[in-house]
Amino acid sequence: MKPMPLIFVAICDIAGKVRGKGFPADQLSKRMSRGVGWVPTNVQITCFDRIGESPFGSLGDLLLVPDPAAEVKISFGDTAPEHFMLGDIVTLEGAPWDFCTRHILREALKRLYDLSGAKLFSAFEHEFQLKGQGPPHQGFGRVGFEAQRTLQETLMGALHEAGITPDSIMKEYGPNQYEVVIAPEIGMRAADAAVILRELTYSTARFVGEKATFAPILNTKSVGNGVHIHLSFKDDAGTPLTYDSKGPCGMSKLTDEFAAGILKYLPNIVALTAPSVVSYERLTPHRWSAAYNNLGFRDREASLRVCPVTAKDPDGIAKQFNIEYRAADAAACPHLALAAVVHAGCQGIEDALTSPEATQDDLSLLSSDELTDRGFVRLPTSLQEALDKFEADPIVTRWFPIDFAKIYRAHKEAEIMYTADLDMDGKCAAYAETY
Ligand code: GLU
Ligand code: MG
Repeated sequence: MKPMPLIFVAICDIAGKVRGKGFPADQLSKRMSRGVGWVPTNVQITCFDRIGESPFGSLGDLLLVPDPAAEVKISFGDTAPEHFMLGDIVTLEGAPWDFCTRHILREALKRLYDLSGAKLFSAFEHEFQLKGQGPPHQGFGRVGFEAQRTLQETLMGALHEAGITPDSIMKEYGPNQYEVVIAPEIGMRAADAAVILRELTYSTARFVGEKATFAPILNTKSVGNGVHIHLSFKDDAGTPLTYDSKGPCGMSKLTDEFAAGILKYLPNIVALTAPSVVSYERLTPHRWSAAYNNLGFRDREASLRVCPVTAKDPDGIAKQFNIEYRAADAAACPHLALAAVVHAGCQGIEDALTSPEATQDDLSLLSSDELTDRGFVRLPTSLQEALDKFEADPIVTRWFPIDFAKIYRAHKEAEIMYTADLDMDGKCAAYAETY
């Protein structure tokens, strides 16, 4: 018997999980036009494999069609190569399916381009933790780095082989916590790369006998695992559009308006960018995550940060200049998280909003009146509150296909229900198992 090489075609769904089906590799060209069968109610499979209330029930058929632009084939050791392709969910007639996460992102990117002529470049920075204690007291430590040299070198090699440009990797501050940074990618590719990075991290960890988790927080007394999304723009000719030396904090008018939209709608979109029950334990003050809808100039206690650049000349600065969205985590599907951020930014452009001044003080010391006076709000402190805020604003829900908000709510309610009887340690443990 000769094993038959398989390709796994997958979608990163609204649970942020990568799900799909395998088919014989020699059928690829057929599958690229006909896909594999997919079921509408799959969209309601939560990260805990419970199925939320579904308007589709047992009805309907869809196709999951592999995209050659999102193919990964990597050999770990002597075993059969891992071979997967991200794809799109379409109807039997081949039209995009409303609740396909890649379709939702494509629409958001189109809105941005139609509004501004800008193409979005983004880079998803990921923190993760390995199971077990790891060497103690190794925040950015060399010993902690060397303890996982094989894992880190294997992961960076795998990313490179998958066509992603590795930037840097480090032993982060938290216990057994690491961070991997990749170069920006255009449009859809950035979100695809984030998914691929997560999958390759899991595979690499397994290969070297470790277990990796991207869960938003493992222990409420310690740090969280963030996903920071770096954002910049270019026009069709490749000219950077993000920077203007005379703009606020160096932001161009486009960036300023885009940032203002994100900040205005942050309380409404965190349900999509930090979508787990424990995400809200991470989004608390003094964790260098994001607790208020504030702009920071090189300040890591801000939801949106204007990042430093190393270049000195104006062209170099313009090329490097970017803003960083910090209120995301890896329970979020990167496509959905990016779509939410892009739509909020687009609303800022459409409404010609201007960003508030960057903060430098500790907002957690302000009274709620002082916060209101300065135009800031505390971000939702629970998933339930975040879902309420998402659903409450018709401007926000209209960015997404009709009924998306309803489906999303039902999906997340099932997830909340699954964790309802667990104490906080139990909830963290449950998420550590699934992400
Ligand atoms: N661990 C922090 C977070 O949850 C980020 C720390 C940093 O890299 O600035 O977002
Ligand atoms: Mg970090």
